[in-house]
Amino acid sequence: MVFYLRSMLFSSIPGQTPLAKKLKGNIQRGKIPHAQLFVGAEGSSALAMAIAYAQYAMCANPGDDSCGECPSCKQFTSLQHPDLHFAFPVAKTKDSSDKPTSEEFLASWRTLISDNPFPLYIEWLSHIGVENKQAQLSVYQAVKISQALQLKSYAGGMKVLILWMPEKLNTAAANKLLKLIEEPEGRTAILMVTHHEESVLGTIRSRCQVVNVPPSNSQALAQFLDSYNDSQVPSTLLATMAHGEPGQAFHLMKDAEWIKDDVTRFVKWVRASFQRKVDLMLEWSDSASGLGRERLKSFLHFSLDAFEQALTYNYGAHQDNPFQVADVDFKFDKFAPFVHSGNIVEIHEKINRAIYEIERNLNPKIVLLDLTFEVAKALNAKH
Ligand SMILES: [Zn+2]
Repeated sequence: MVFYLRSMLFSSIPGQTPLAKKLKGNIQRGKIPHAQLFVGAEGSSALAMAIAYAQYAMCANPGDDSCGECPSCKQFTSLQHPDLHFAFPVAKTKDSSDKPTSEEFLASWRTLISDNPFPLYIEWLSHIGVENKQAQLSVYQAVKISQALQLKSYAGGMKVLILWMPEKLNTAAANKLLKLIEEPEGRTAILMVTHHEESVLGTIRSRCQVVNVPPSNSQALAQFLDSYNDSQVPSTLLATMAHGEPGQAFHLMKDAEWIKDDVTRFVKWVRASFQRKVDLMLEWSDSASGLGRERLKSFLHFSLDAFEQALTYNYGAHQDNPFQVADVDFKFDKFAPFVHSGNIVEIHEKINRAIYEIERNLNPKIVLLDLTFEVAKALNAKH
């Protein structure tokens, strides 16, 4: 899976038309707040929207979208516009200086964002080879950012700073940025992109206008994923499991084999429970208990999603079988009606309790067998 950013147009981001319209309206009316905080879940379109917004603001011939052709748009394509500044958390690596700055990691940043403009934090860490470290936006970096933005704009127009993950600024670093945020030099727009709004320091948050970036609707995301999805897992399933966040879907795509295992395991489980075949229920619990704690928890989370899918399927939310994974024979439309308002709450509670018990190191074989009997009872309950 490679996204290959050509030009970050609003239209290339799935399912964000209403927000794009609002942002374009700001620019058309010449009313760009000088500090904005884009808020979206990890893997959301928040960063991509901020880039598209900056590109549109600096485009020489903006129409309904950036033109994609003018010199400014061309520079955006390679993320090398001289008035586009990036700041993001970094950590010391064997090749970096002692006081690493975003500047040093800019080439890595560009390759990551060009491939996938919806990166997870962990993907960025692994991209720069520091999976086991914490990255941060240091005081030193904050000083460097302020200095860079005090310079005149190269093109004589506006300057934009896109700061990814302000939740990684500590108090001292945040304080260094306050002046910049309050009285930026010339026409400067500061676009911060957070995935954990509650962790952004109040001093920063209170000075920014918040832009909420919602998840994409599953259909728009599934359609978008279709161009990149070469896994055996259907895009509709990826979109749902990712809760509408494209970066999460890309991340899941890399684990497609696991998802296929989960679907297969889930099908076996509901079949055995539904038919109340005790030998099959025992066999299933036995085999699933060998998964290992983390993997088992992830399967149980998958099951929570799957039952929820069945419920929404009954309300006509999906036309297709979202579980249509290669080689798995499962009649979702036959199964779905057995999940309803009379048992979904109980099923959820039981699965959540099992997750809790597994986290506390209870014997997984017993936890799963117990859960299987509970689910069997709930599935067979009359509507
Ligand atoms: Zn343009």
